[in-house]
Amino acid sequence: MEVDAAIVGAGPAGCAAAIRLAQAGASVVLFRRMEAFGPKPGEVISSLARETLSELGLLQSFDTLGFPVLAGSISAWDEHLPTSRDGIVDPYGFGAIVDRHRFEDWLIASARQMGVSIQCSGRNLDVKPDRKGWRIETSDRETAVISPVVVEATGRSSGLLGKGRRVGTDSLVAILQYGRQDDVADQRMLVEASAHGWWYAVPLPDNKAVIAFLTDADLLKKSAGSQRVFVEDELARTSLLREFSAQLISRDYVCGYPANSSIRECINGSTWVAIGDAAATYDPLSGQGISTALAKGASIGRLLASGDKLSACLDAYADAERQSFSAHLQTQRATYSRAAPRFNSPFWTRRTVLDSSH
Ligand SMILES: Cc1cc2nc3c(=O)[nH]c(=O)nc-3n(C[C@H](O)[C@H](O)[C@H](O)COP(=O)(O)OP(=O)(O)OC[C@H]3O[C@@H](n4cnc5c(N)ncnc54)[C@H](O)[C@@H]3O)c2cc1C
Repeated sequence: MEVDAAIVGAGPAGCAAAIRLAQAGASVVLFRRMEAFGPKPGEVISSLARETLSELGLLQSFDTLGFPVLAGSISAWDEHLPTSRDGIVDPYGFGAIVDRHRFEDWLIASARQMGVSIQCSGRNLDVKPDRKGWRIETSDRETAVISPVVVEATGRSSGLLGKGRRVGTDSLVAILQYGRQDDVADQRMLVEASAHGWWYAVPLPDNKAVIAFLTDADLLKKSAGSQRVFVEDELARTSLLREFSAQLISRDYVCGYPANSSIRECINGSTWVAIGDAAATYDPLSGQGISTALAKGASIGRLLASGDKLSACLDAYADAERQSFSAHLQTQRATYSRAAPRFNSPFWTRRTVLDSSH
């Protein structure tokens, strides 16, 4: 199969890129990997995503999925009393709380409807330079694709092209607990700072709920048993989160996920580019991973469809990613600095010390 663009990874970034390119009339193949069963963290979609969904022609269809709206947030962060923000004042409309697997299945189905060819990649893909750009083959040799450009949207995985090395600016990890609630009266997200990290909690579709504790990998104790004690001790010292967790009927722990901020040393070549989390990962505190991944997918789709010189488009994209990452680090430092005076602990002090290398 010869196509105009091959995209590897069918998360929000890869799907948005595929859909935007297909809209412009390009032939596109999207390689997806069947996800392991189990939750995928990241259920809150900021209202900013509505703009990109609208550009992709998907806003109406998204609204018919019937995901609960994000009614707002309550945050106990700095020294002041908890502050609440009503979603009704959001200029883009309400955000949404999604079942992540259902959301991504819908994105993939939308791409297919737009004419994108969806291929299962299995465990590995073989990607080699070819006379016409790249030859991508699945490990079972069932599918071979020739494409002048490869968009790598493989999330936090080590990736396929270029040097996968990332520069991490911290070692944040998330410990997740999924529970059930009897009655969900309040669809707001809670955010709270505590001595060794910070927390978020949100009610999920189907009477489920998630509580996440974000801390540094080295601050977690070594054995699984003592890790749980560490997390429970910390939870006991919170206010909003303790109250929320007390309402849950059950709570199941899920092992930690990396959640640190990082950027790939090499984001692009002259005929390939990494986008979304594959290019740079952002602290979940920003709350915009999914909306940003969608926006970046749409933007690379727009650039590739522009007909401008390919290598110049990819260089410009990578420059913009580096700028957005350094702006993120500044905002991140300012946000953590607001809570830091409340706690005299390594988690907070290391986040307020200036690191001139980034
Ligand atoms: C704990 C935690 C909580 C978060 N909470 C939120 C939140 O509430 N709201 C929010 O907006 N963001 C949140 N985020 C961030 C958000 O999940 C990511 O920023 C977003 O998923 C990035 O999208 P992506 O498409 O770049 O990557 P991903 O969503 O990771 O998608 C990449 C896809 O590529 C696939 N893949 C990898 N390798 C291959 C291969 N070789 N072949 C084919 N496919 C491949 C993967 O299986 C995956 O499906 C959170 C992150 C963490 C860690």
